[in-house]
Amino acid sequence: MTAETDPHRHAHAHEHASLGEHAHGHDHEHPQPAHGDDEVDAGWIAIEHLHYAYPDGFEALRGVDLTISRGEKVALVGPNGAGKSTLVLHLNGINRPSHGSVRVAGLAVDERSVRRIRAEVGLVFQDPDDQLFSPTVFDDVAFGPLHMGVPTAEIHRRVERALEAVGMGGSERRLPFHLSIGQRKRVALATVLSMDPSVLVFDEPSAGLDPRGRRQLIELLRALEQTVVVATHDMRLVAEVLPRTIVMDGGVVVADGPTDAILADAVLLERHGLEGA
Ligand code: ADP
Repeated sequence: MTAETDPHRHAHAHEHASLGEHAHGHDHEHPQPAHGDDEVDAGWIAIEHLHYAYPDGFEALRGVDLTISRGEKVALVGPNGAGKSTLVLHLNGINRPSHGSVRVAGLAVDERSVRRIRAEVGLVFQDPDDQLFSPTVFDDVAFGPLHMGVPTAEIHRRVERALEAVGMGGSERRLPFHLSIGQRKRVALATVLSMDPSVLVFDEPSAGLDPRGRRQLIELLRALEQTVVVATHDMRLVAEVLPRTIVMDGGVVVADGPTDAILADAVLLERHGLEGA
């Protein structure tokens, strides 16, 4: 991997950037030399004592502690209502902790950092139609960087690269609503990749895919170099792609370990409404 394609290259620059308004989340005009910070890498996502209550008072997260290192691929599983969505919406600042803290790439997720965090963490929704709203594929994939103030030539490079990465190279002029569901899902991922994020969070990525689309998704997830978190009920996908599994139930983490060990624990799976692969 070259510095040019390294999705993490700019992340550390953020720590040293001023806290004031930053023209773009990624400082491409002033690239910082890549340097390792083992502590930040080990806690690329660092969640401490996270509690979250919805406005109606319902406490959906009741003390979550979680550390995910840079480049890890992690499954987030658990029955409906476990708190998975509530948790992942903290990773890019859509939800804010009632108590506790969330850090991504060494940055506390809060009011001041939210702009940079949104570029750092890409959320890929279950339904691509929640992510695609432009007349052409190009416009959708260019939307994020355009709004971050990325220069035009760089936007074209990023769109091309993001579409290549999802196997949709050359589809810039196509109309998103003419594409198949599998293709729309891949373009939805490209809309997030074009932001050059270091973390990708997927919500049920295999839902609605036929076997071929599913196979392509698995190849794609395997090839990603970013830190990847996948919230899913698809335990076969988990077994094939994600070496670590976090089980949530009732707003807390009830198990966290190697996927093989979690999937072999029939009692644990049964207790939390999960099926083995
Ligand atoms: P999961 O993604 O694991 O299915 P969620 O994070 O969506 O779980 O939900 C966790 C809990 O929070 C559930 O009990 C759900 O009913 C509740 N919840 C979700 N959204 C809201 C909301 N807007 N207001 C109140 N409670 C909510």
